[in-house]
Amino acid sequence: MAGRNNPLIVWCGISFDTFNLMHRWFGRLAILEGLVHFLCWVIPKVHTAGWSVVKASMGHSNFIITGTIGLAAFVFILFTSQSIIRHAFYETFLHLHQLAALFAVGGVWAHLHIEGLPAKHIIEAVLAIWVIERSIRFLRIIYINIGNGGSKVDVEILPGDAMRLTLRLARPWKFRPGQHAYIYMPSISLWMSHPFSLAWSNNDEADPTSTPNASEKEMGLPLNRQDIMSMNKTTMSLIVRRRTGFTDKLYKKVSNMPNGTLTTRGLIEGPYGSQDLSSYGTVLLFAAGVGITHQVPHVRELVQGYSAGTVATRKVVLVWIIQSPEHLEWIRPWMTTILGLPNRRDVLKILLFVTRPRSTKEIHSPSSSVQMFPGKPAVQALVDAEIEHAIGAMAVTVCGTGSLADEVRRAARGRMDKKNVDFVEESFSW
Ligand SMILES: Cc1cc2nc3c(=O)[nH]c(=O)nc-3n(C[C@H](O)[C@H](O)[C@H](O)COP(=O)(O)OP(=O)(O)OC[C@H]3O[C@@H](n4cnc5c(N)ncnc54)[C@H](O)[C@@H]3O)c2cc1C
Repeated sequence: MAGRNNPLIVWCGISFDTFNLMHRWFGRLAILEGLVHFLCWVIPKVHTAGWSVVKASMGHSNFIITGTIGLAAFVFILFTSQSIIRHAFYETFLHLHQLAALFAVGGVWAHLHIEGLPAKHIIEAVLAIWVIERSIRFLRIIYINIGNGGSKVDVEILPGDAMRLTLRLARPWKFRPGQHAYIYMPSISLWMSHPFSLAWSNNDEADPTSTPNASEKEMGLPLNRQDIMSMNKTTMSLIVRRRTGFTDKLYKKVSNMPNGTLTTRGLIEGPYGSQDLSSYGTVLLFAAGVGITHQVPHVRELVQGYSAGTVATRKVVLVWIIQSPEHLEWIRPWMTTILGLPNRRDVLKILLFVTRPRSTKEIHSPSSSVQMFPGKPAVQALVDAEIEHAIGAMAVTVCGTGSLADEVRRAARGRMDKKNVDFVEESFSW
């Protein structure tokens, strides 16, 4: 369950977040079973022969030594994977977690092997799955990023401690709402990757005057899929909020550049996840701060689909909570495009809540479909108002702080008996 590409995620139709939760709980159960197994050996041993025999076994019997190493590694994992440690020292946690998992699995395998127990083949199968998954990931990263000049990342500083990253992939994939990708930037962090939601994609169609080139025409070479893809320049963009590790290092590096922008080589791994909200009549999207990057692609897809008559959606309400109006800058070009889409006024309403405005002058509503308010939203009242006038089934989604997610979840869950409401959450953390 440690792999990013476990087919069960797709087959069960569950999110990576939920799968991760299962990873944690199956892990805890396995550790508990390991502890019970150990106690079932040690208690009768102490009762019948005393501690000295237990100590002697742990010093001399390879069977007991390897089992104890495996169990110790499991217990180490149990303590170091607590949420507080995971979130405070994520990268240290991840490295120690993987090392401990190696000792745990290796210890259990040796424990079984010494006694010639056939259960060791289960461990071998697990290792094989792990190696295959890692190899596929590695080959995919190479395929997506190598060739066609390689993948590049343009980074620009935005107001409010944020950056816009524009990914120019060597081999782009089809952009869908709800996708995220892992970014490796060896010039900032040698091998660690960080997940970010894809907020926007631009498809610049190839210039027909430049294709095919003269020599290709002359030789009558047909264009293959690769040629066509390299002529279509697809870029994907995301917004990164500065934190204290990788994102802080990147922010400082870009700030020190003379023009506040940086172009660097990067490796992109993805896409992971995607969500389709197009079958809901009403979609209510909540975002706090940088969580807007997860919601913008949905808004774009639903408004475009409404106009084209390809989605069931008749009403989209975006509620975005920001600390100051300068955060609007993060998505200004994309919002301008969305607000310019045909029939947008018939389907989209945007409610902006500014929690720390510097003055009341900053709060002004440009139109009845884009309204700005000071302070925090009354989540339950907003959900209730939309449920009251909902068309068809309704999706309530949230991406933002934990407290906002809790509030929105409570508000939506409490009304599930009244209306056909589904709740979708993206937490930006695990
Ligand atoms: C699916 C998903 C989508 C995300 N999308 C965005 C986005 O669009 N924009 C955005 O600004 N942030 C996004 N994040 C959060 C982003 O990944 C972290 O803020 C970033 O990795 C922090 O890096 P750091 O070294 O500066 O963090 P730190 O300051 O060291 O830690 C801050 C937090 O980030 C988490 N974190 C640190 N490193 C990693 C890592 N390698 N993998 C996962 N989590 C990590 C830690 O648990 C901690 O809670 C997303 C996270 C997830 C899981």
